Amino acid sequence: MALDLAARRREFPALATSVHGRRLAYLDSAATALRPRAVIEAIARAAELGSPYRGVHALAEAATASVEGARAEVARWIGGAANEVVFTSGATASINLVAQTWGRANLGPGDVVIASELEHHSNLVPWQMICAERGAELQLAPIDDDGRIAIDRIRFERAKLVAIAHVSNVTGTVAPIAELARRAHAVGALLLVDGAQAIAHLPVDVGALGCDFYAFSAHKMYGPTGTGVLWGRAELLEAMSPWQGGGGMIRTVAATSSTYREPPARFEAGTPNVIGIAGLAAALAFMRTFDARSDEARAHAGLVTAIRAAGGRILGAPELAVVAFDLPRVHPHDIATLADGEGVALRSGHHCAAPLHERLGLAASARVSVGCYTGGDDVAQFATALARIRDVFP
Ligand code: PMP
Repeated sequence: MALDLAARRREFPALATSVHGRRLAYLDSAATALRPRAVIEAIARAAELGSPYRGVHALAEAATASVEGARAEVARWIGGAANEVVFTSGATASINLVAQTWGRANLGPGDVVIASELEHHSNLVPWQMICAERGAELQLAPIDDDGRIAIDRIRFERAKLVAIAHVSNVTGTVAPIAELARRAHAVGALLLVDGAQAIAHLPVDVGALGCDFYAFSAHKMYGPTGTGVLWGRAELLEAMSPWQGGGGMIRTVAATSSTYREPPARFEAGTPNVIGIAGLAAALAFMRTFDARSDEARAHAGLVTAIRAAGGRILGAPELAVVAFDLPRVHPHDIATLADGEGVALRSGHHCAAPLHERLGLAASARVSVGCYTGGDDVAQFATALARIRDVFP
């Protein structure tokens, strides 16, 4: 079916707003994707639900059905089983959950966790923390100059866990997940995938990828903030202890000890985020209506061309989702501020990937990113903005 971008843009109320009197070219979907009307309406409807699981009245049962329906939809989207889907507050919480449960029980002196030089701080700091606590060692897999994981230079021998981003939020490169899984499993290690930047742009099938954990956030895929998923292989989740204690995760509670429910309930202490989870389910239904990879390819390539035409340097060899760059003699924060004046929303800074910027010899970069609503008009507006910025800093 031909792509009707104007119609798709109309589904996003935020895109109807003007910024400094200009049409909004939203090129910051990698930070958070905008939400279509269907998601906003689902969030509003869920705001009228009761508290799930423990009530027997109609509004409580409707909330339970909403959460469990969403769990089944998430499982279907990533090719897992519903009891392998743990709802969290986001990719960050999902990764911390694995570090604080599996990590605390399984890491010790002599063990190695392998992350990589391009990881987001969310997939680095939790491993630093648990490795320091358990006396384990954190190693960073090297990347090549294109921003790709140099898989043949990884020393897997002592690895207990490999934690790698599916798509980098800076270089836009896609990691060879299936091959990483094979090599990790060959030495008895597990593979955790940070899917925060992949989930809105690539089909994800956890079985085909062969990973053990997969983490992502709803707000990068047209859903609400404060909502995310940890998918984990059933037998791993079953062997893991809970991290946070509270209501909903217990089987029995006595004065000084408790027993815990099966996963995923064991990992979902407290009242579930009914509203966010309903928004996530609506975001999945929305994403079923298009093919992100093919719809976004032209805009992504257009951004690369526009940056090169303005004399910019691109970080790595981006394949999809994002393009990070710098312009000679212009600080990335100045690029972002001046672009905002042109109605172009983009990001500047280290994008929570300080070690990567250090590896590339930069303090910061600018970053543009695409969503399902990004088209030729956005690319043209960005190209014009870059040309004006060049004129300010000749
Ligand atoms: N990993 C990557 C690659 C990301 O881009 C992000 C979000 N910037 C995260 C993890 C963390 O996601 P959240 O802040 O939603 O938990």
